[in-house]
Amino acid sequence: MAELRTSDAHWEPIADGVSVRRHRELDLSTGLVVGDRSCLVIDTCGDRRQGAELAAAVREVTPLPWIVVYTHGHFDHCFGTEAFLPCPIWGHEALPGFLAESAVEQRALWAARYRAQGAPRRAADLEGSQALAPDHTVTDRVEIDLGGRTVVLEHLGPAHTDHDLIVTVPDVDVVFTGDLVEQGAVPAFEGSSPRDWADVLLRLADRGTAATRFIPGHGHPVDTTFVRTQAIEVRELVELASAISRGEAAVDSAGTHPYGAATVEEVRKLLA
Ligand SMILES: [Zn+2]
Repeated sequence: MAELRTSDAHWEPIADGVSVRRHRELDLSTGLVVGDRSCLVIDTCGDRRQGAELAAAVREVTPLPWIVVYTHGHFDHCFGTEAFLPCPIWGHEALPGFLAESAVEQRALWAARYRAQGAPRRAADLEGSQALAPDHTVTDRVEIDLGGRTVVLEHLGPAHTDHDLIVTVPDVDVVFTGDLVEQGAVPAFEGSSPRDWADVLLRLADRGTAATRFIPGHGHPVDTTFVRTQAIEVRELVELASAISRGEAAVDSAGTHPYGAATVEEVRKLLA
């Protein structure tokens, strides 16, 4: 199979001045919110080549100065920042430590994975990419004025990672969730806090209205019902994994969960 071209991405308009860039690579979604004075770029893709393509695509939409925010520190969301420099970079306060600890390992793991998939150029691009830490950090909540509209960066507690941020654009009822919400694939539990994750998703769903649009880190935009369903699925996954560990559920009942037996086992080990 030929390697994907970096141009295998397109903009999807979500609301006035709010767009999602859908990337075929990992079905990643990055975001753009345009104000009167500046624009906010939500996540920067997984390597410097994809990041440069994203920066050029943003420049096709707006000439305004940009601000970058990371939803979390997994490489596919934040290793493409180089082309955006110099600019303010926002992230949760635990993110610099996470990147310092994990960037080398993430790069090595995924470069090996790409080579095994027959994508050596992508592997080399990743190996040549920097994990640039945020220089502006969020503890719980920060508002950023883009001129004419304000965006809100929030940490709702440990979930997919211990440093997830969501980005809300209140004037159009849009929430960028990073990998807190996953559409089209099973949520990624490695390094997560599954019990807390279910609670965070329920709180997110409780805030949503019939009109709220949630933009997952991977997959299509979704609605409040989807987020609530995912919250229930994660909670049931935790309950099933715990019951198996206690000997109160049969090991082969893991296959009854929609995320599959392998994910139930992964979460059972995480909770043990
Ligand atoms: Zn992630």
